[in-house]
Amino acid sequence: MKFAILSRGDSNSNEIRSKIKNYLKEFNMEYCEDEPEVAISVGGDGTFLEAFHTYNHRLDKTAFIGIHTGHLGFYADWTPDEVEKLIIDVARTPFQVVEYPILEVIIRLKNGGEEGRYLALNECTIKTSEGSVVLDVDIKGEHFETFRGDGLCISTPSGSTAYNKALGGAIIHPSLESIQIAEMASINNRVFRTIGSPLILPSHHTCLLKPTADKSFMITVDHYTHTYKEVKSIQCRVAKEKVRFARFRPFPFWKRVRDSFVADDKE
Ligand code: NAP
Ligand code: MN
Repeated sequence: MKFAILSRGDSNSNEIRSKIKNYLKEFNMEYCEDEPEVAISVGGDGTFLEAFHTYNHRLDKTAFIGIHTGHLGFYADWTPDEVEKLIIDVARTPFQVVEYPILEVIIRLKNGGEEGRYLALNECTIKTSEGSVVLDVDIKGEHFETFRGDGLCISTPSGSTAYNKALGGAIIHPSLESIQIAEMASINNRVFRTIGSPLILPSHHTCLLKPTADKSFMITVDHYTHTYKEVKSIQCRVAKEKVRFARFRPFPFWKRVRDSFVADDKE
């Protein structure tokens, strides 16, 4: 079996990276950065996002494992002292896989400009440095509202604990194939009106965001930001692809939420 390891780049993560690499080679596994069947990230959730984007063109063939060298992460949920056990489990294939839904973002430009298709593990956000973001929001082909404010965040269930949470969005269990639209400081008065609550869309509903005026938009996909001009529309829906986690022990999502945000004591 082929594996690859991504490190955050600090000395501690690099050390764990070479330790895993040597161990797995002893188990006759092949180090292969081009076509790994297992991609291991060593660092934080940010490192895991990087691993996801490195292999997002082969999600059906690569399973992910995240080891955290800092605080407990949502994707990086293995500790460095579990590494030995983890390696024996990885080497003893086949392993179980858990799938989580991800977000598909299609950006279309005016004048038949090039289409871009992106996959997000956490979220996509739309912001601008040129005043307010004004977007016509269509849901499932029907006009829903005209949004005016700082921006919108469209997140996956596993990304709902990231940026979305800071915006007052709900935490969604990743077994629910859905996306969530959360507002960033919407303008609400007698002239402008938005729903004001986060919306959760099922997998067969598409959300289409259409700028009402020509501005330059900062569109983020996870930790990447690009600036676009002449945006015709941004289409978001649950992707047909999924992210696959190699699973060797149960670590329920709600326990991860509690350990990260409430308390990590054992009571
Ligand atoms: P970062 O600035 O280090 O990320 C912000 C924090 O979010 C870090 O503590 C990161 O964990 C954590 N995080 C990432 N994904 C998470 C998830 N699914 N659930 C809970 N926490 C999560 O930048 P980054 O590491 O490159 O991560 C990019 C992400 O930052 C974006 O996808 C977005 O979700 C998030 N973000 C959050 C805010 C906000 O909360 N106001 C603003 C901008 C971006 P690690 O320290 O383990 O990396
Ligand atoms: Mn980070």
